[in-house]
Amino acid sequence: MASTNLRIPENIKPKDGRFGCGPSLLRETQIERLSSVGKTLLGTSHRQSPIKSLVGKIQESLLEIFQAPDDYEIVLGNGGASAFWDIASFCLVEQKAQHASFGEFGQKFANATNNAPFLQPSQIIQAPAGDLALCQPSPDIDIYAYPHHETSTGVVSPVRNFASSNSEALTVVDGTSIAGGATFSVSEVDCYYFSPQKCLGSEGGLWLAMVNQKAVKRCQDLVSTRWVPEFLNLKVALDNSRKQQTLNTPAISTIVLLENQLDWILAQGGIETSAKHCQQATNKLYNWALASEVAKPFVENPNWRSPVIATIDFSPEVDAKILENILRTNGILDVNPYRKLGRNQLRIACFPNVSLDDVDSLLACLDYVLERLV
Ligand SMILES: *Cc1c(COP(=O)(O)O)cnc(C)c1O
Repeated sequence: MASTNLRIPENIKPKDGRFGCGPSLLRETQIERLSSVGKTLLGTSHRQSPIKSLVGKIQESLLEIFQAPDDYEIVLGNGGASAFWDIASFCLVEQKAQHASFGEFGQKFANATNNAPFLQPSQIIQAPAGDLALCQPSPDIDIYAYPHHETSTGVVSPVRNFASSNSEALTVVDGTSIAGGATFSVSEVDCYYFSPQKCLGSEGGLWLAMVNQKAVKRCQDLVSTRWVPEFLNLKVALDNSRKQQTLNTPAISTIVLLENQLDWILAQGGIETSAKHCQQATNKLYNWALASEVAKPFVENPNWRSPVIATIDFSPEVDAKILENILRTNGILDVNPYRKLGRNQLRIACFPNVSLDDVDSLLACLDYVLERLV
């Protein structure tokens, strides 16, 4: 067995070795921006106009990037997408949720509503890791929930309203690891929520949700009749967000980095450009794996393969853990599979900030190491 001391030649290495699923690679100009406001915005109040105007810009840019119809708005708060699962359980589910669950993240939200003592047990439609589950219309359901992208497996779902046409049910979609990296039709969903440390190359800690007035109405009705912890009250978050604020103190650096990233996405040509970029990058990895004798894409159905995170399985003669360790000692970071998936796999994020050249270099490095490992 080759030792993890294997040195990859400098000239074939990626310029930036960060391929993790989040926190993910930040561009140098984001860090420069952070440093340029080091004495003006950092360390100042989030309740004063300089930070509030940044939050306002984030809200406007997101609506523009997603090409949202008029009745959508951006709500934000602290706690990341994980907090939003509890927020939605309290403030969006009336009685019974249906979840499509095909990996760890989808299942976590399903557990949240299913365990809530004030709700009926949830209907959970499951598919094994690597497959896709879809919601199905059902008369007693008032909220359909699923991830747009299952980060633990690299499976992408169509974004659709699965309710029957006369239903009042809401469609609530977790876009955490794909928001900013793929196009979708906003009018299919009533609530699309995400954290900013994945495709959006910022830092963790915030959740953001694009909601329409149907979701706002549901939330207002529920919180007026149900006890809701203030921190999880979506109506409180909404009232604050309409004033470009959050209930409690956010990380200013997360806001600065996010605002810069959204500006950059728009300057590059918006969501179409970043979606095309990510798709090209992951295609390189899938095509490499399809041509390889020791690797193949984990997700068998090509339509379900993520455009932003490639999961690549290796045959038993390659120990992916050793491969990952060699890459790590050579500065290529965070290509490990999702911890609970337990596969002989690498998982490689190709978010908008990852350059196509660096994906090519990563593949050259994989070839270099595999030639010496197998
Ligand atoms: C990362 C992730 C989350 C959790 O986000 P946090 O900001 O860590 O709470 C939720 N859903 C999906 C799909 C994710 O990829």
